[in-house]
Amino acid sequence: MINKDKVRPSITTLSDHLTTLRRDFHKYPELGFKEVRTSKVIEEYLQNLGIETKKIATTGIIGTLKGKLPGKVIALRADMDALPIQEISNCSYKSLNDGSMHACGHDAHIAILLGVAKYFSTRTNTLKGTIRFIFQPGEEMEGGAFDMIDKGCLDAPKVDAIFGLHVWSKYPLGSFCTLPGPIMASTGEVKIEIIGKAGHGAMPHETIDPIVVAAQYITAVQSIISRNLNPLDAGVITFGTIKGGSKQNVIDACVELTGTIRAMKDENLAYIKARLEEVLKGICAANGAQYKIDLSNGYASLVNDQVVTKKVMLIADDMFDKSQILQKQTMGGEDFAYYLKKVPGCYFFIGAGNDKKGILYPQHHPSFDIDEDVLPIGVEMFVRICENFLP
Ligand SMILES: [Zn+2]
Ligand SMILES: [Zn+2]
Repeated sequence: MINKDKVRPSITTLSDHLTTLRRDFHKYPELGFKEVRTSKVIEEYLQNLGIETKKIATTGIIGTLKGKLPGKVIALRADMDALPIQEISNCSYKSLNDGSMHACGHDAHIAILLGVAKYFSTRTNTLKGTIRFIFQPGEEMEGGAFDMIDKGCLDAPKVDAIFGLHVWSKYPLGSFCTLPGPIMASTGEVKIEIIGKAGHGAMPHETIDPIVVAAQYITAVQSIISRNLNPLDAGVITFGTIKGGSKQNVIDACVELTGTIRAMKDENLAYIKARLEEVLKGICAANGAQYKIDLSNGYASLVNDQVVTKKVMLIADDMFDKSQILQKQTMGGEDFAYYLKKVPGCYFFIGAGNDKKGILYPQHHPSFDIDEDVLPIGVEMFVRICENFLP
C-alpha cells in the first residue's frame, strides 16, 4: 500500500471529487468515437476551470493550460472509450448504458486527468510552461490516437514530451510498473480461409478435406514462435476461432480461422506474418487445397523513451514502495505507441486491484472494477511528472 503522506493534502482532499467524477463516467459508458456525453462533460469541466479547449477527431478534446512563466510543453493523455460488454455488478454506479461498460478503467483515466487539470488551474502563477490535456476517443479498437495526432493534438504549441497511464487491476493498489524501451506489443489480426473439395465422409479420397489441412496448419505454425523467432524475443500466435463442417459424415469445402498475433518488436510481427503465409502456402500445396489469407495491422509496439522513462522511474522510486515497483512487459496493445513515435515520453501502469475488497477481476471482464484509492495516486504521479519536466 502506498504511504498516505506520499500524496499531498491538496490532492488527498480531491479524493471524493475524483470518485464522483469516475462514477459518473462509469454510469454512462460510450463506445469508441461515440463518446458524445463523455466529451461534453470533459469540455465543460475544463472550461469551468478556465482552461482553453478544442474539440477534434469527432469526440476528442484537447485542453491547453499555459503557465504564467515560459517553459516546455508537456502532454498528458487519457483515453475515454468503453467496451461492448454487459456489466455484471451490484454497485451503485453500475453502467446505465445497456451493453456498454467501462471495463478497462478509462473512466478512471478521465477522472485522474481532470483532477490534474483542476490542480494546476489554480497554480498557473508558478507554472513554467504549458500542459496539454489530451482526451482521446476510441483506444480499444479504432486507434483514436491516429486521428488525434492527425488533427494536431501534439502541435501549436509543439509538445516536448508526453505521458500516459493505465490503472491495472492485476497489480495491487500502491504498485507501479514501467520500463524504458518496448513495454507493450505490436499487434495484428489474421483471417484465413482454407478451401478444399466437398464430399462424403466415407469417401475422403474423392475430396480435399479442409479440416485435416486446418489441423496440420494450426499444429505447424506453433513452431514459428518456438523455432523461427529468436528465443530471446517474445511473440504470440493464437487462433481464437475455427469454423468448419456441418455434419459428422460430411466433408465440407471450407474452414475459416481467425486469430491474433503479437510481438514485442514491430519487425518480429512482420516476420511472423510472412511465416504464417509461407507455411499456409506450403501446407495447402501439399494437400491440393486453396487458401485466402488476410493479415491486418493492429497497433505498433509501444516503446518508452529511455531518458524520459528513467526520470519517471526516479519519481516513482520516491513515491512507491521499492517492493511494489515492477518492470514488466505485456503482450497487450495500446495506441499510445503512436504518440511515442512522434515525441519522447513514457507510458506506465498503476496498480488498482485489491483482493481484500474483492477487486480482482482482470480488465475487460464483466465484473471488472478498480480500487478508487488509485485516483489520487494517479493525480499525484501526473502532478509530480509535470513539476519535474516543467521545472
Ligand atoms: Zn482495454
Ligand atoms: Zn485500456
